[in-house]
Amino acid sequence: MLGFGSKPIGLGRLLGHHYICLLCGHSLDAQVSHALHKNTIRESRIYNVIQEWIIPCNIQATSHICHKCWMAANRASVQMTSGPSTSLGQDNPQIVESH
Ligand SMILES: [Zn+2]
Repeated sequence: MLGFGSKPIGLGRLLGHHYICLLCGHSLDAQVSHALHKNTIRESRIYNVIQEWIIPCNIQATSHICHKCWMAANRASVQMTSGPSTSLGQDNPQIVESH
């Protein structure tokens, strides 16, 4: 009589949480995904790398990336923080020590 006949009771599943990789756009439903935080130094570095990669977009609180992209970002963050000396030497070509 009241028109509530087809109310979907019991649909407790959280629909609408289909994460896709922020970088490559692949669905993260069936694979390892990584949320982006800045809880640790390492996470902050990765976060910064990804932020640079997606400029002018911004990382959202709900943003996730797939493991492959996370690995790439992790590698890039390590290179970014550990290898600043390689490009500095090019301004000094006369470092030729002859003994
Ligand atoms: Zn990805």
